Amino acid sequence: MAKIFAVVNQKGGVGKTTTAVNLAAGLGIAGKKTLLVDMDPQGNATTGVGIDKSNLEYCIYNVLVDDVPAEKAILKTEEDNLYILPATLDLAGADVELMPKLSREHKLRVALSVIENDYDFIVIDCPPSLGLMTLNVLVASKYLILPIQCEFYALEGLAQLLQTIDVVKRSLNPNLEIAKVVCTMFDFRTNLSENIYNEVKEFFKDKCSPVIIPRNIKLAEAPEYGKSIFRYNKDAKSSKIYGAFTMEVLEYAKA
Ligand code: ATP
Ligand code: MG
Repeated sequence: MAKIFAVVNQKGGVGKTTTAVNLAAGLGIAGKKTLLVDMDPQGNATTGVGIDKSNLEYCIYNVLVDDVPAEKAILKTEEDNLYILPATLDLAGADVELMPKLSREHKLRVALSVIENDYDFIVIDCPPSLGLMTLNVLVASKYLILPIQCEFYALEGLAQLLQTIDVVKRSLNPNLEIAKVVCTMFDFRTNLSENIYNEVKEFFKDKCSPVIIPRNIKLAEAPEYGKSIFRYNKDAKSSKIYGAFTMEVLEYAKA
């Protein structure tokens, strides 16, 4: 059965998609059959692995709202062992359409339960909100990865995120756990990044990943080519770092 990881933080632009794409690609390279699930209407994870959103037959919206089986929407990517359940802007309407439906927060869990035996890992990319789509992700996942951008206001909103996770844990998904908190866009030239890392470490203790993702232009360029950092520039420093993060996640999943 697949180990299901979600990359979540309602704050925008903190490195969720970059982490989800490169972790999923890294797991694929490690020989694990991996499914990347895009739960953000922006569809950045979808384009990030080279899928053209304009001519998809089905996307995650159809799976959640029209009950199309997930396997019909899943596509193989050019990354090793990596498949994608893509998202398009259609997904923006899912909140409203699911509103009157029963068990609306279980839609993703039910959809993935049918295919989870086909994969070793499922990695889910979340939108920057705590709405119904993120709630579906929290119900469907076991392990959470929280990326935290090493900039001012980084920790703002964190209390609300932790509270939401706690509520879901107590009500809908008792198996949910925070696996890793990872600092992203770390700037080695500033004390600010260092200070934020120290605060995160102090608060999350051993959940705080020792792997720190630096601010690196290659990571920002890769999605433009629809490639993970490993395919875009495998010798880049950030490629090695996301490789190390992937190994850490693999270790965690084993335990
Ligand atoms: P959103 O909340 O909009 O979904 P996000 O949390 O998924 O955003 P990303 O899309 O991963 O964040 O990153 C935001 C922007 O910063 C993107 O343009 C991305 O390419 C860039 N970026 C992410 N991580 C890094 C990094 N370590 N170094 C440099 N640029 C980065
Ligand atoms: Mg994103």
